[in-house]
This record gives sequence, structure tokens and C-alpha cells, in this order.
Amino acid sequence: MTSDLNKCRVCGFMYDEFYPWGIDGKYSSHEICDCCSVQFGYEDSTKFSVLQYREHWLINMQGEWQSAFVSPPEDWDLEQQLKQIPKEFQGPDDLKIYSQLKAKKSQ
Ligand SMILES: [Zn+2]
Repeated sequence: MTSDLNKCRVCGFMYDEFYPWGIDGKYSSHEICDCCSVQFGYEDSTKFSVLQYREHWLINMQGEWQSAFVSPPEDWDLEQQLKQIPKEFQGPDDLKIYSQLKAKKSQ
């Protein structure tokens, strides 16, 4: 069973058998997210820093998949993924920032 504990707080990516903040959500793994490259335990330690890093990833890094070693899922859907960010780490502007990114990319 996967839960919010399997998700990256910044980008919402769901890991199958990995817990970015440990199985109890208290002790970060210090690993790097394959999707947004946040380091668990650093930029994602407070809601404020989560929102800041998410904005940085979506705007400056264009919401692109970051890992060069792990490929994104074949059916990767960024919009869906952003909607599944754990509630306590969602930001009021997430989808607005995303639609700006989408508009920019389609130009
Ligand atoms: Zn992430």
C-alpha cells in the first residue's frame, strides 16, 4: 500500500517502495527526488520551503524530470502528479503556475 508517505512533498511523485521521509514521515532519507531533484530533509523541511522549491522547479527548471539515471514513468502526467501532492504541502498557486508553464511550453 502506498500513501502520502511515499510521495515527494514538492512534486507529488509517488514512489512504490520508498519513503522520502521514512516510514513514519519523521526522518528524512536525504535522498534526491528523481523527478524534481529536491533533497529530502533540506528544501522540503517546511511548507514554506516546499512551496519555494516547487516554484523554482516549475519556473526555472520548467517542471522537467531531473534524474539522468532513472527515467520518468511512460505515462508520466505532471498535471495529475501535482494534484496528488500531499494536502498539507499543496500551495494555492500550484495549478496556476502549472498552467503558465504549459502555456509557455506550447508557444
Ligand atoms: Zn520531487
